Amino acid sequence: MGGGLNALLEGCTQCGLCREVCIVERLGAHSITSFLCGEEDYSSWLCSSCWRCQEACPQGVDIHAIMMEMRRDEEAPAGHEANLVSVLRSGYALAMSEEINEIRRIHGLEAVELVPVEWVHALVRGQEGREKGA
Ligand code: SF4
Ligand code: SF4
Repeated sequence: MGGGLNALLEGCTQCGLCREVCIVERLGAHSITSFLCGEEDYSSWLCSSCWRCQEACPQGVDIHAIMMEMRRDEEAPAGHEANLVSVLRSGYALAMSEEINEIRRIHGLEAVELVPVEWVHALVRGQEGREKGA
């Protein structure tokens, strides 16, 4: 465990309150809150980003910072990489097309305006240009 992580964990008493409120835990999987309770079976990537854990922590432990620190050391699950590729190609984590508005219409929802894919590609090209110039 890195020194940065140890410093972030200072103050954690392993009380388990974060795990009690965690949605991932309630669904039967194991999030970072299991790690905070000393368990070895957990994933820092299993998270809905609800931050109920953060609100529940009586010690003010920076659970978000701990999660990010751990993710830097762990390989992202394949699904996350697929989401990233989809964002770079279409602007959305899950493939989205005009069909979404037909589905929304069936459910009585208003149509949404999708981001033009050319905008997404222009942003990606701009970022690549900045990185090359850096
Ligand atoms: S992070 Fe906070 S709520 Fe979670 S076990 Fe540690 S002290 Fe308890
Ligand atoms: S932010 Fe993640 S780890 Fe924290 S309670 Fe929500 S799902 Fe669980």
